[in-house]
Formats: sequence, C-alpha cells, structure tokens
Amino acid sequence: MAHTPDMALLADRVAAVRFHMALAAAQAGRRPDEIKLCAACKSRSSEEVRLSAGLEIDLFGENRMQELAAHMADGAYLGKPCHFIGHLQTNKVRRVVGQAAIIESVSSIRLLSAIAAEARKQGIVQDILFEINIGEEDSKMGASAEALWPMMDDAASLPSVRLRGLMAIPPAFDNSPESRRWFAMMRALFEKARARHPGSAHLDTLSMGMTGSYIAAIEEGATLIRVGTGIYGERS
Ligand SMILES: *Cc1c(COP(=O)(O)O)cnc(C)c1O
Repeated sequence: MAHTPDMALLADRVAAVRFHMALAAAQAGRRPDEIKLCAACKSRSSEEVRLSAGLEIDLFGENRMQELAAHMADGAYLGKPCHFIGHLQTNKVRRVVGQAAIIESVSSIRLLSAIAAEARKQGIVQDILFEINIGEEDSKMGASAEALWPMMDDAASLPSVRLRGLMAIPPAFDNSPESRRWFAMMRALFEKARARHPGSAHLDTLSMGMTGSYIAAIEEGATLIRVGTGIYGERS
C-alpha cells in the first residue's frame, strides 16, 4: 500500500519531541545541545525519511542493512549521518562498515573483530558503541556488563575501530521509576568506562531512551535518544 507521508504531522511530532527533550534537559540541569535526536526509521519509506530529514533531526538509525542501503541510495538522509542500531551478523559487516557513522550494536568480540578487519580493509576507522544487555534478558542482544571490560581492552588494541560509548535497550519502555533505574545503571557503567580509560575524550556517547522512555533517559544522562513511533507514527 502506497502511503503518503503527512509533512505537517511529521513536523508537529518532531517539534513535540524536541520540546520534551528540552524540558527533560532543563529538569536535569543539562544543556539541550548535549542530547542528540536519532530518528529510528526502520520500515519507513525513503520519502518519509527524506521529509523527516528536513526537520530538526540530528541523525538516523537503521536496523537492517538493506534499508540502510536503500535509503542511502535514494539520498533520503539529505547528508545527515546514519547509525546502525540493529542486530548485525558478522557475515554482513561489509555492507555497514564505512556506511554507518557509528555502529551502535556491537555486542561480542567476534563482531568487533569482523568490523575491525573490514574497516582495516577499507582503510578507515569505524566508530562503534557497545550494546549492553543491562536487564540480562534472554530475548535481547547485547553483552553483559561484565563482558564490557574485555571488549574495551580489545577495542583499544584495534586501530581501525574507535569506541564512542554505550547503547542499551532496557527491559522497561516508559518513564517509570523502574525505567530510570536501568538508565541510571547504564549511566554508572558509562562513567566507569570513562574513568577506566582516562583521556578518552571520544568516549562521549550514551545511547538510550525510545519513544516511551526518552524523558527518563535524558534525565538519567543519555546523550543520544532513538525515537521511531514518536516521529513517524505506529509501524504497520
Ligand atoms: C525501533 C527502535 C527504536 C525506536 O523505537 P520506538 O519505540 O518506535 O521509538 C529505538 N532503538 C532501536 C534499537 C529500535 O530498533
């Protein structure tokens, strides 16, 4: 079914998200420009992505390499960066390395090594985040908090990757106290990682919070929120 995106509706939704972002930042005594808005555009058409790109969105987040390739080929991002936020198989890294400004979903040493090898082959340095399964849920991707330390040591020894921070999809999807508790745990882990590698100014990204939870995430220290339905509406 061809679906015509409604520009006025998109603009209203993005403005509403920005308004709530600024409010949450103020509530936490943070500057609004410390927090970036990533539009999670899985399953959206290139037309929808292009329309949203003209709005106050900092970057895009893709879950599937096919959609990343299609949106990229269509010029839908209007030059804005794109992050890879979905599950990435080691045999598919070739299509994502060098295309995504940051690969946010690195959750194993195996995947880290595959990304590093591909980046080396391309002669680039690939920015990455480590995805942490903070709720230790069987259903979710992501490394355990303890696995972070050996992964950080590995990343530090690989010149073709640069660790920029952490990403998480915690068990709660709202702005409840439970949600805050998971975000606070991520914040603590992020601070610990930064303290462990002093002088790593590039460790600057804590990606957490979605449509239902970004207010709590910002109040607990997110520097990047990933919003899908809050911008584009329900996925069909
Ligand atoms: C889809 C998705 C989001 C956005 O979810 P919404 O609830 O639609 O805002 C954020 N992060 C990841 C990894 C996603 O897959």
